[in-house]
Amino acid sequence: MSDKFIDFIITQKCTYKCAYCSQSKNQTKNKSSASDSVINAFLSFLNHISKDFEITITGGEAMLHPRFFELITKIKNLGFKINLITNFSFEIEKYKKTFDILNDSLNRFDISFHIDEILKKYKNPNDLFSKLSDFLNLKPDSTSVCFFIPLFDLTNEKEKYIDSILSFAHANNIDYEFQNIRFLNKYVNKKTGKYKVQNKSKNCYSNLCFSGCKSAVIYEDGNVYRCYSSRFTKSNYLGNIKSSDFKLNNVSLPCVFKSCMCPKPLLYNQVTDKKDRLKTIILQGINFIYLPYLFIKNLEIVKSKLKQYFN
Ligand code: SF4
Ligand code: SF4
Repeated sequence: MSDKFIDFIITQKCTYKCAYCSQSKNQTKNKSSASDSVINAFLSFLNHISKDFEITITGGEAMLHPRFFELITKIKNLGFKINLITNFSFEIEKYKKTFDILNDSLNRFDISFHIDEILKKYKNPNDLFSKLSDFLNLKPDSTSVCFFIPLFDLTNEKEKYIDSILSFAHANNIDYEFQNIRFLNKYVNKKTGKYKVQNKSKNCYSNLCFSGCKSAVIYEDGNVYRCYSSRFTKSNYLGNIKSSDFKLNNVSLPCVFKSCMCPKPLLYNQVTDKKDRLKTIILQGINFIYLPYLFIKNLEIVKSKLKQYFN
């Protein structure tokens, strides 16, 4: 496995409307997608980084983007391995087309099961499992699949449905992972039922981390951040992909968060045990000025989300 990755959120549009959606960096369900200029800048950026970066194309629902198939074709032709994630709301033909284009370049294709929406779309679980079987039969042999199951507001009916998804996963040797809902860099434990969720947060405060150097998250507007946790802070903003002088950091920097909520940099061994207190203080100083500004700017959104979760 590579120790480098880039996540590119190409659209905030989605086929589902999950109540807990927090994909957008503004905690709002905006509907924007990467423009032609952002997509082109991204492709040109790929020309300047080494081919051992894994590229994850995500959303919202990434497959909704009108240039999705063209983009993955170009990334493959540039020689990169690609990871995808879907909420499994499309017809099987669309997945087949993805497999046909990417073949062995498709490293992972994960499926997120948002149970409220799944219950609406696949009232009869057999419809879901028949499509899942087709998906598994069509995928390239080298592509791995994992089921992600966010847990929120569970009822007996939802638990029963989740149990049937788990039985399918066991029968087909598919890995699965439960997820807690995150809100503003905190896990929200609300009615997670009988399932045990492993919160993968870790205190990495002031540890040197290679995110921003060996990994980055690019938003649909072209703004680039070191990691998902850092998307609300200024000191971890790397610039916009459209800038002609944009480049990733070339050194590791300290983490300024008491708990890292980004599983990938930990998984890819990007966080070192070394600490750098002085740089952490400087970076925190920058955020100290920026965060109150951001809080005031997003006050209405924050209030409505808090109401929704804790009422
Ligand atoms: S499927 Fe994902 S991106 Fe779409 S609404 Fe649900 S949580 Fe948000
Ligand atoms: S340790 Fe985690 S939260 Fe901190 S900078 Fe690295 S990836 Fe981001």
